[in-house]
Amino acid sequence: MLRSILLKFSNSKALAHWVTSNGTTRRMSHRFVPGEVLDEAMGAAHACNDGGMLVTLDCLGENVSTPADAQKVRDTYLAIYDRLAQEKLKANVSCKLTQLGLDLSPEFCEGLVLSIAERAAAYESFLRIDMESSIYTQRTVELVKRVRAQNPCVGAVIQSYLYRSENDIHDLLSYGCRIRLCKGAYKESEEVAFAKKEDVDANFLKLMRILLVSGFYHGIATHDPRMIAGTIRFAAERKISKDDFEFQMLYGVRKDLQRQLVRDGYRLRIYIPYGQEWFPYFMRRLAERPANLAFFIRHFFRS
Ligand SMILES: Cc1cc2nc3c(=O)[nH]c(=O)nc-3n(C[C@H](O)[C@H](O)[C@H](O)COP(=O)(O)OP(=O)(O)OC[C@H]3O[C@@H](n4cnc5c(N)ncnc54)[C@H](O)[C@@H]3O)c2cc1C
Repeated sequence: MLRSILLKFSNSKALAHWVTSNGTTRRMSHRFVPGEVLDEAMGAAHACNDGGMLVTLDCLGENVSTPADAQKVRDTYLAIYDRLAQEKLKANVSCKLTQLGLDLSPEFCEGLVLSIAERAAAYESFLRIDMESSIYTQRTVELVKRVRAQNPCVGAVIQSYLYRSENDIHDLLSYGCRIRLCKGAYKESEEVAFAKKEDVDANFLKLMRILLVSGFYHGIATHDPRMIAGTIRFAAERKISKDDFEFQMLYGVRKDLQRQLVRDGYRLRIYIPYGQEWFPYFMRRLAERPANLAFFIRHFFRS
């Protein structure tokens, strides 16, 4: 119930304006978003690399309304790759298609993605296309396949809460696509997604097994100790090397588990978002764990 309300609020422009212009909430957002400018994200990325973790950088933003705005986002991503290369960071980039004009025109969006992928390839890096709500799933899968046909340094994300995900995985694997598996962060109806956590989790473990034996390098993105233990167990049973896949976690979430995985010799990539448009991302993080909301409310009224 609380999760649904928070996810609904994540689309409110009035609330976004209030929260993002308030000094206290801006400071509190730093737990999940290290800052609003690239320099702050780079500082966080260096700290992660120093701690033995890989990084993926995301410039926050969704649903642009003009081609010029989408082109600006494309330029931002090109500049991020340049900075990552200059500073020799072990990092790649994640972006969302609605930031790059998917709602305006799939062809226009594809052109922008292709130009970002070319920059990624020039640095022997990688571009991950995040997965948004289910109204975009089909278009995202199709676009990733088309871009990959021209430039294979692009990968996709699959959400275990969607019924369709097993089919999407087989489809994308037939194109040799690298996949990030996560549970899914949006508000979805029972027509398209499992409603019960136990079903989402069971599907996550099922899809993880398909990915790990596929022969391609994938990302298992979760903070759930049961999903992580299941992955470690399965990899050990099948003698899959720790170098043949990576775990992925969000900046600021379960740092204890992050350190443990690094200590145990697993590859771990931290997703570092930055930018002014942090409100929907921040609300999705609160929705995942109501205890975070209580923590933020307590701190808000204390400060
Ligand atoms: C690297 C990465 C990339 C992602 N990319 C996408 C994407 O492209 N599209 C998409 O829809 N979703 C994405 N997600 C979000 C994902 O779908 C989940 O919403 C999110 O990871 C929470 O699910 P969970 O697997 O951690 O398990 P959950 O069942 O939600 O949580 C399990 C446990 O993890 C801990 N935990 C989880 N979330 C939090 C939190 N916010 N604060 C504190 N503790 C927490 C708690 O201990 C909790 O009990 C991504 C997640 C990661 C890690």
